[in-house]
Amino acid sequence: MAVKTHTQPGDEVILNRDSHIFTYECGTAAVFSGVQLYPLDGKFGFFTAGDVEQSIRPDNPHHPVTRLICIENTHNRAGGTVWPEKWIAEIRSVADRHGLSMHLDGARLWNASAASSVPVSETASRFDSVSVCFSKGLGAPAGSLLAGSRDFIAKARRNRKRMGGGMRQAGILAAAALYSLDHHMERLKDDHAAAGRFSRALSDLPALSIDLESVQTNMVFIRTLKMKAADAVRLLAEKGVRVIATGPDRLRVVFHLDVSASQTDEAIGVFRDVFK
Ligand SMILES: *Cc1c(COP(=O)(O)O)cnc(C)c1O
Repeated sequence: MAVKTHTQPGDEVILNRDSHIFTYECGTAAVFSGVQLYPLDGKFGFFTAGDVEQSIRPDNPHHPVTRLICIENTHNRAGGTVWPEKWIAEIRSVADRHGLSMHLDGARLWNASAASSVPVSETASRFDSVSVCFSKGLGAPAGSLLAGSRDFIAKARRNRKRMGGGMRQAGILAAAALYSLDHHMERLKDDHAAAGRFSRALSDLPALSIDLESVQTNMVFIRTLKMKAADAVRLLAEKGVRVIATGPDRLRVVFHLDVSASQTDEAIGVFRDVFK
């Protein structure tokens, strides 16, 4: 909805190639917005102001019109990594210079803030629009939210209706989202500590590879070196640990409010057993 509201068909959107918008939305940016996505590579899912500068199309009728930059923070597929605030500020300067809009895919923005101590409001202030999910780390049963200027949101409401996203009696979901803000924000640090402890406890196993530097928030991505990820998922599930495969040899393990410290210990034991 944010992409649709910021763009016209034929516009181009700069983002990271592992971003949710590029990877997990079944081509919706093409289908609903008619935009072209310009995916950038980069360690931990980041890109720099210089990368953006080089990707902006010259004003020439052969080219699409560069319109929007999307940043995902934390970046899911890169490991739950936290964007350096300075890089975002530098990208904002480039965007301002070229008249581009910026959208923050902040599904896990509170995790980013808990890890970096940069207030959510500070990061959000650099963007024209921000989306957040209450149903990820914050643990509400459902609910995402898009924030932006009054005009932007008025347009976005029309687009939401067109996409079939309008809801009646949504207050019950809003109440759960408010509850999660009041009660589940402070404890995000516990999930980060658990993810760190879990990944360090497995780092000596030769059957696994974990990039400890990428474990910055509540996620641990694990490369399985001696079995297929799908087989690992099955063996772990048989022992009560449920994780997902995000590639042929890649597992994603997420720590959240329903995983206690003792369950983290148990999961470490199960992993050591399956990958011994
Ligand atoms: C879950 C998620 C979304 C999508 O949220 P919806 O509420 O399902 O639209 C967007 N971006 C990221 C990074 C996500 O993890």
